[in-house]
Amino acid sequence: MNKRRRIYEGKAKILYEGPEPGTLIQHFKDDATAFNAEKHALIDGKGVLNNRISEHIFTKLEDIGVPTHFIKRLNMREQLIHEVEIIPLEVVVRNVAAGSLSKRLGLEEGTALPRSIIEFYYKNDELGDPMVTEEHITDFSWSTPQEIDEAMALALRINDFLTGLFLGVGIKLVDFKVEFGRHWDGDAMRVILADEISPDCCRLWDIDSGDKMDKDRFRRDMGGLIEAYQEVARRLGVLNETRPPPGAGPVLVSSKS
Ligand code: UDP
Repeated sequence: MNKRRRIYEGKAKILYEGPEPGTLIQHFKDDATAFNAEKHALIDGKGVLNNRISEHIFTKLEDIGVPTHFIKRLNMREQLIHEVEIIPLEVVVRNVAAGSLSKRLGLEEGTALPRSIIEFYYKNDELGDPMVTEEHITDFSWSTPQEIDEAMALALRINDFLTGLFLGVGIKLVDFKVEFGRHWDGDAMRVILADEISPDCCRLWDIDSGDKMDKDRFRRDMGGLIEAYQEVARRLGVLNETRPPPGAGPVLVSSKS
C-alpha cells in the first residue's frame, strides 16, 4: 500500500515526500486540463510519456549547465527531484505567434516573431493566471529583480537549446512555459528549473506538415493527443518502454466550455 506523504496535488502531477530531506517524488498523472481546469479528461499513458520526455529534456539541459530540480527517474510515472520553493510565476517564451498572444494582439497563428518574447503570468488559479509585468512581480514581492534576471537568462538559454533539439527532429518550437524554484545549498540560494517540460506545456508543430504535436490537440478537440506525444517521444529517441497500455482512449471527465 502507498503510505507516502502527499505534499501537493496539482492538475497533472502529484508531489510526494522523498526518501531524503530536501527531495520529493514527482508523479505524472494521466489527467489533461485546459481553460483553468474547466475542461478535464483522462488520457491513458500521457503521464508515462511526459515523465520520459521531461526526463530527457531536463537531463540534456543539465548537460549544458542549466540547473534543474531533476535527480533521476524512479519508474514509469515518477522522478526524484530536489525540493524547491516555487516562484509563483509561469514564464512563457514565444518564438512564433499562437494561442493567447494571437488572440490578444490579433496576430495570425504561425507569424514568426522578430525576436523571442518572454512573458510572465502570476500562478493563481482563482484569478486564472493573469499576465503580469516585472513591476507587479517585484512590488507584490512574488520575486526579486535578481531572481527575475536569472529566470529570464535561463529561459532564453532553454529556448535556444530546445529550439535546436526539436529542429533536429523536424519539430518547430512555437512557445513553451517553464517554472522556476529557489533551491538552497547551505546558505546559498539559486534559481533552478522546476516542474516539467513536455508537450503539455510547449507548442510543437511538425516542420513539414504543420501538424500540432502538443496539448492544443486536447484544448481544440482535435483528437490524436497520445499518438502525437508518442511521436514526439519517438523522435527524441525516448519511446522505449513508454508505450502506454492499450486503453479505451480519452475519457471526458467534465467540460463546461
Ligand atoms: N502554457 C502552460 N500552462 C498554462 C498556460 C500556458 O503550459 O497554464 C503553455 C502553453 O502550452 C503554450 C504557452 O504556455 O505552450 C503559451 O500559452 P498561451 O499563453 O498561448 O496560452 P493558451 O492559449 O495555451 O491558454
